[in-house]
Amino acid sequence: MGRIVRALSDDGSALCTAIDTTDIVNELHRIHGTSATASAAAGRLATAACMMGALMKNEGDRLTLRINGGGSIGTITTVSDCWGNVKCCMDNPFADLPLNEKNGKLNVGGIVGTDGYLAVIKDLGLKEPYMGQIPIVSGEIALDITQYYAVSEQIPTVCALGVLVDTDLTIKRAGGYIIQLVPPVNEAAIDFIEENIKDMQSVTNMLEAGMTPDEIALKGLHGLGGEILDSWDAVYGCDCSRERTEKVLIALGKKELTRLADEEPVTEVCCHFCDKKYEFTSEELKELINQIQS
Ligand SMILES: [Zn+2]
Repeated sequence: MGRIVRALSDDGSALCTAIDTTDIVNELHRIHGTSATASAAAGRLATAACMMGALMKNEGDRLTLRINGGGSIGTITTVSDCWGNVKCCMDNPFADLPLNEKNGKLNVGGIVGTDGYLAVIKDLGLKEPYMGQIPIVSGEIALDITQYYAVSEQIPTVCALGVLVDTDLTIKRAGGYIIQLVPPVNEAAIDFIEENIKDMQSVTNMLEAGMTPDEIALKGLHGLGGEILDSWDAVYGCDCSRERTEKVLIALGKKELTRLADEEPVTEVCCHFCDKKYEFTSEELKELINQIQS
């Protein structure tokens, strides 16, 4: 079970959200069979989505992050809500590259690529979802999220994300934090936060050292008298269902459904996010075709 924590500075000028997503990224790896580099790329994006989902206000709000920089992993899509549920899928979970020569780290920017966009879609239950899009800065994800907040929402933000992959490809540690300044911006808070960031080790190092998300959130606000605002569990969760799958099939249209019903005795539809399989016999498909006619 992942855990998400939010801490607020005494004067309310800075909010730090921190999360341990070790279990979530392990589940992501189990479902998709990701390579080490793909686990890091998708795991970082899912970790960011989970925290950004926590910054939304209402039940039923949904946040989608989508990135495609022309790299071998293709498009990574991750969807979260304000309750800490997150799910993720990508075109090529086996995308991999040798370690980055410069720093010996997983080459996330290499498989994501930098020729493309990071899109943030917020479905707040209004007529049209909100969509913000920025050109990818590094493809390493955290810097791209920081840039999104600076450009699209004009919120000064620090974002750190980390996924540590074990030799057997399971996830040893994963997590992240986001520090945001709440308007009106308190200049003194900026100085404190800049110092704190210099002092903070990487997220995976802090988790390896036994620090909890609570302690990480408070460390981000050190000197500002931070206090834990709230915390809750975060999980890899998919909300797919047979009913939703039927809607997707109906959206294919009468012609395509008739072709499927004629060609296959049983059509299997697999959820991209959780790998759950839904089977429809040709009779069941014909019933769906009848719904289109009515
Ligand atoms: Zn699913």
